[in-house]
Amino acid sequence: MSYQPHVATLLIVEDNVSTRELIIEYLRPQKYHILVASNGQEALDTLHQASVDLVVSDILMPVMDGYSLLAAVQSDLSLKNIPVIVVSAIGDLQSVLRCLELGADDYLYKPINRVLLMARVTNSLEKKFLRDREMARLQEINTMKDQVVSTLAHEMKNPLALIMGFIELLIEDAGLSPDSREYVQHIQRYAFQMNELVQDLLDLSKLDITLHKERADIVRLCKSTIEDLRLLATQKHIELTCEASDTLCIAEFDVERIRRVVSNLLSNAIKYTPKEGHVTVTITQSDDSLQVSVQDDGLGIPNDELERIFESFYRIKRPEHMANEGTGLGLSIAKTIIEQHNGRLWVESELGVGSKFSFEIPCA
Ligand code: ADP
Repeated sequence: MSYQPHVATLLIVEDNVSTRELIIEYLRPQKYHILVASNGQEALDTLHQASVDLVVSDILMPVMDGYSLLAAVQSDLSLKNIPVIVVSAIGDLQSVLRCLELGADDYLYKPINRVLLMARVTNSLEKKFLRDREMARLQEINTMKDQVVSTLAHEMKNPLALIMGFIELLIEDAGLSPDSREYVQHIQRYAFQMNELVQDLLDLSKLDITLHKERADIVRLCKSTIEDLRLLATQKHIELTCEASDTLCIAEFDVERIRRVVSNLLSNAIKYTPKEGHVTVTITQSDDSLQVSVQDDGLGIPNDELERIFESFYRIKRPEHMANEGTGLGLSIAKTIIEQHNGRLWVESELGVGSKFSFEIPCA
């Protein structure tokens, strides 16, 4: 049974013209589309320009040998899935083993045997097309899953807003018994938690959409976000300050998404800082970038979890952290947004002392 959905394109990498011609001649009956290169570098250039299904490569070549070609193919996500069959001198087991370790799919010895060449090419191609089909199916399922999540989150947003509105009204009702008030406050807490999850899922589903960049002032954005969250800080008696130069910090960015990042870092700082703590937002600008830091003197983060907190759904499992509700999505969304702006987001922290989250985006 053949899994070839289209005429396969093969790249033959061989510096010896006669060997190259012989391989092409042997493969001619299969009517493949054949490209050629005389060393690894030429092969890499071709791989970046054309859609290649399989590479048959010599090992010892000038400019770039087969080992370096294999290493380059394996380290490039867009090429990794292309099988490479290496052709080595007869009995050269060491070279073959090294190539297999480097990720070669199969090997052939010289002088090349026509039947073996055809069998191995067909076999590697069939495996490749099966993998391609599986990947396409997974991608389809993933897209469907994203659509379901975003539709559900959308549909839940409005009823949730109404529930929260009516809860507010109930809480304001003076005739409520103390017990009932306590129950309603519980309902409010859980509704708030659900709302946060819905908001995170919505943000997650919107990440694929193109950025709407505009020239804007980051200081203004940070100050308005601070005001949005001031009540939350005041409730915990946390001192919230902003240190920024009086001059404008102008850059091109997607205002709503960067607001989402600042808001997440700031609400985390308030959430994971005990009462009477301090949170400071600092904004600085250099010639080619602007930097925002949110520093707190709160719970801090264990050293071995500093990287992991940027993974989706990752939360620190310590009781003092888990006492605060969260989804574990905020930082992974923030990181994606900053990377979409060609910037970087990082954290410095000490457990029990505090944390400083910073991001930097280019100004140009
Ligand atoms: P969450 O919704 O859980 O807050 P995030 O992705 O925003 O999700 O953060 C992931 C985890 O990182 C949090 O659960 C928390 O344990 C930790 N964290 C984030 N910000 C801080 C901070 N300022 N201080 C201490 N821990 C933090």
